[in-house]
Amino acid sequence: MKRLTLPVMFVAGLLWNAVSHAALNVLACEPEWGALVMELAGDKASVSVATTPRQDPHRIEARPSLIARARRADLLVCTGAELEIGWLPLLQRESGNAKIQTGRPGWFEAADYAELIEKPDTLDRAMGDVHAAGNPHFLFDPRTLPAVAEALTARLQKIDAANSAHYAARLADFKQRWGAAITRWEQRAAPLKGTPVAVHHKNWSYLILWLGMETVVDLEPKPGVDPSAAHLAEVVKRLEQTPARMVLRANYQSPRPSQWVEQRAGVKAVELPFTIGGSDQAKNLFSLFDDIITRLLEGR
Ligand SMILES: [Zn+2]
Repeated sequence: MKRLTLPVMFVAGLLWNAVSHAALNVLACEPEWGALVMELAGDKASVSVATTPRQDPHRIEARPSLIARARRADLLVCTGAELEIGWLPLLQRESGNAKIQTGRPGWFEAADYAELIEKPDTLDRAMGDVHAAGNPHFLFDPRTLPAVAEALTARLQKIDAANSAHYAARLADFKQRWGAAITRWEQRAAPLKGTPVAVHHKNWSYLILWLGMETVVDLEPKPGVDPSAAHLAEVVKRLEQTPARMVLRANYQSPRPSQWVEQRAGVKAVELPFTIGGSDQAKNLFSLFDDIITRLLEGR
């Protein structure tokens, strides 16, 4: 009997490897990371996304169906920088999946490979939703993405070494297309330079910095805190002294505060897709930026 067992185990092992290498099971916290994995892995990964584009990624519930997906994941790809601090640690714990625990190869946080801005000098939770690590919405400076893509490729190669060359080729192709797209976006967006804007939440800081726009005022009194009528009245007063051309909000945010400011201060309210699927036009990482720039140029 023993003589039979070994070859059977060997064959089963080969089959298991073949199956697991056919598609790496990836769980992305937000749609943009699911899209990046698809760019870099192609058919070598089967991607599932934890949040929908209509959800506020700061606030998600770790539902049983999501925990079940986390249990099966070979790789977890998230923003990091505390964006998911309210739900990701629970999801990792409840999954019981050793592969995706913090520090393991199956755990990847993009923010570890990006340079973050707006790091608070002092950490005081009374200041609102401030993140010790800095502003986590770095995706909106597209120049941050190549370093993240390189690190993610290295991780895919580590977990799935058999397809290492496949990932390297896809990374090179992605970086080439992304670099060309950045040049195109910067040319299109040139007229936006110096444009003063108001923002609902500090989630456009990187975009504003990249395109050389200027933030006049935030609608939120503190990050993550809904603006009160009294605070919005202050915002309008501020805009009378220092006018802005647009008030920007993300598609997952209530349109009411920015529309209220639009009516009172005559500043155009502009909704921008916050991730892939945040507008009908934003179908992948490239069309996400195409659409954001189109909307900014129209709103200007
Ligand atoms: Zn935020």
